Amino acid sequence: MRGIAAVHGSPQPRFVDHPAPRDPGPGEVLCQTLELGICGTDREILHAAEPILPQGDDYLVLGHECLARVEAIGPAPAGSERAPLADGSTRPLEVGDLVVPLVRRAVEPRPERVDFLPFGTYRERGIVAAHGFSVPWWLDRPEYLFRVPRALAPWAVLTEPLAVAEKGINEALVLQQARLGPETWVQRPPRTLVTGPGPIGFAGVLAAVVRGWPTTLYGRDPADSSRAQLARDLGAAYLPASEANFQPDDLQASGYDLVLECTGSEGVLINAARATRASGVIVWLGSSRRPEPTANDLAYIVRDGLLRNHIHLGCVNAAPRDFVDALTHLDQLRQSMPGQLERLVTARVTPDESLWHYEHREPQGIKVVLVYDGV
Ligand SMILES: [Zn+2]
Repeated sequence: MRGIAAVHGSPQPRFVDHPAPRDPGPGEVLCQTLELGICGTDREILHAAEPILPQGDDYLVLGHECLARVEAIGPAPAGSERAPLADGSTRPLEVGDLVVPLVRRAVEPRPERVDFLPFGTYRERGIVAAHGFSVPWWLDRPEYLFRVPRALAPWAVLTEPLAVAEKGINEALVLQQARLGPETWVQRPPRTLVTGPGPIGFAGVLAAVVRGWPTTLYGRDPADSSRAQLARDLGAAYLPASEANFQPDDLQASGYDLVLECTGSEGVLINAARATRASGVIVWLGSSRRPEPTANDLAYIVRDGLLRNHIHLGCVNAAPRDFVDALTHLDQLRQSMPGQLERLVTARVTPDESLWHYEHREPQGIKVVLVYDGV
């Protein structure tokens, strides 16, 4: 069967002939890909031209943002109960159920949370040393699958990217409430700045507005662009770079409590940190695999961070908690903002048409989704 893969020495995606999965064994589930999101991580893997390959293979099948349908279920493992699903549900999967897979899995069972494991102790499907989901069928285990309510099917491909933003917010909340008290950001919602109008930026906007937090999206797009309009329609303010003032006269009045930094740009990070109030949190959600440092004014981050008790929080991957939040919030958003979530999917293409999108971004594009035959 055909998969979309990254190989060493080339920044270009290619179709590969990948072995079809066998029938599911004990404790396994056969899934059929229905929809697959493309994101900056896929493009970074390709651009770097040195994918981390599964052992014994000379290519990495891409794809980690997946909506799938259960096609077949293997027998229960001998002598043990069926494992609960990744969402904690003990109701067994059934053929026809819709699912979203967890991306990261520990190589060996470990006590730590899987999203906090150090590099080398985990695999990530479609990213690190494990094949992804850009194939028609794949095997998995229920403990790595989240069941998706049928009403959420049109938007469930957004679950994984939304879960990444949910983790950023959840971790910021855990730290703030531990150091400032359990009511922090509950009584007085944090003024939130999201930088970068790409897929993770919009995921950050969704995760903040669904909590009722006052949210601003910053970007280089002009104020009359379609992404700026979408940010406003989602309930956020849009701040174009041309109008941004990151050194307000009254920081406590117009600064931010939480920054979700999604650009990976040193300059944007430094500016956003300067506009962050006392006790604020700056979450790093965007980066390049091959950063090009620019010897910027990092001393501002040190001075302001120290004087204002800032937290700078690096954040990658998502825990099962964050996937569950993402699914809950997608359900709330589809009901509270009818017609808006689908605007985040700016292109739906067939796998045949998809290779160009793995190397390029469309102007004003947000999320490109591959649609497979099984829909
Ligand atoms: Zn992604």
